[in-house]
Amino acid sequence: MDQNSITINGHVYQFRPGQTILDVAQENNIDIPNLCHLKGTRATGACRVCIVELEESWGKKLVSSCSSPAKNGMVVHTESPEVVQYRKFYIGLMLDSGNHNCDIGASADESWTDFQIEAMENEQKEELCPVWGDCELQALAYRYQVKGRVSGRHREPVKVPIEKDNPFIIRDMSRCILCGRCVAACNELQVNQAIDYGFRGTNEKIVAGTGNTLMTSSCVFCGECVQVCPVGALIPTKAFRDDRFVPTSTVRTTCSFCGVGCQMDLHVQNNKIVKIDGADRDLPPNNGMLCVKGRYGFEFVGAPDRLTTPLIKKDGKQVPASWDEALDRVAEKLTEIKQKHGADAMGVLTSARATNEDNYIAQKFTRAVLKTNNIDHCARL
Ligand code: SF4
Ligand code: SF4
Ligand code: SF4
Repeated sequence: MDQNSITINGHVYQFRPGQTILDVAQENNIDIPNLCHLKGTRATGACRVCIVELEESWGKKLVSSCSSPAKNGMVVHTESPEVVQYRKFYIGLMLDSGNHNCDIGASADESWTDFQIEAMENEQKEELCPVWGDCELQALAYRYQVKGRVSGRHREPVKVPIEKDNPFIIRDMSRCILCGRCVAACNELQVNQAIDYGFRGTNEKIVAGTGNTLMTSSCVFCGECVQVCPVGALIPTKAFRDDRFVPTSTVRTTCSFCGVGCQMDLHVQNNKIVKIDGADRDLPPNNGMLCVKGRYGFEFVGAPDRLTTPLIKKDGKQVPASWDEALDRVAEKLTEIKQKHGADAMGVLTSARATNEDNYIAQKFTRAVLKTNNIDHCARL
């Protein structure tokens, strides 16, 4: 057998030193479910959902694939009966740990379908989790048919005050599964150190700042934690209670707020942007991350008071005009100024939010047509 080769589900794959079993599987499109893994951060093994079975000389062994280095000659099974049994148990424990009312054990078996249909038909229903249909834990509960209540505990609704005192992020820790992705994203990817684990034992939860709110922490509302949260514990305020069952398309584009050129995915419903996420983790320059402007500053795109036609001043009032009329007026005024005061009496302000191509054309127009070097950009948002 080649050096640095590993067998997964009967097929042999090569790996590079330092790769984990999960890395090798993902690189070869083998699906190992996980809820705490976050590319580019240290593995925590917190959720245990990524367990796989290793064939050892003395028998079988279950390990977390996200934190186990690939070793030469390893034989791995990702969906053996034991793996599935334990995976179901851990998924069930997470469902039991909080206010998760959507798994298949949320209601008695005979009324479960009625509950789901009723919830889908009534968007404003209190019981309906805001990420219903867009939740990694829910998807796994369905995939592995987990009924919850694996711990044998009676499931009481978890009462945790919902934090919504900031304009961007709603925190509902009753749905937190303590996967730790938000902490890793905040501290290791964005390096903002706004949140961390707090308290001990069964009281453990994610805390923020002195008053345990994002507003009292060093949070800059980049929303990275929201993007990586696998459940409905962190949700964007703007998308809260938006119509989740309307078809949504995704459009890859470049952020127009500054010159970095971050790649982003727009989530669009009825030709309206409802949410923005950073694009792929492997895609430079932002590797899936965004700042507060790129992620949350999108309402201007469809703002009702946005100018959609040029305005020119007539009798002291701004009135709508055609493009031909407006451009003729600008050309006439610029010519007049140039003749009276010279080219350097004029200047052009462009914008960091325009495209490179538009800014290039603007400087060409300024230098070659107006004959002045007075061109700059306004970086204010
Ligand atoms: S967070 Fe996920 S698992 Fe929990 S109730 Fe919401 S959709 Fe269901
Ligand atoms: S919004 Fe950004 S800074 Fe604030 S807690 Fe989340 S990751 Fe950290
Ligand atoms: S808030 Fe979300 S990302 Fe953070 S630990 Fe809880 S479930 Fe995980």
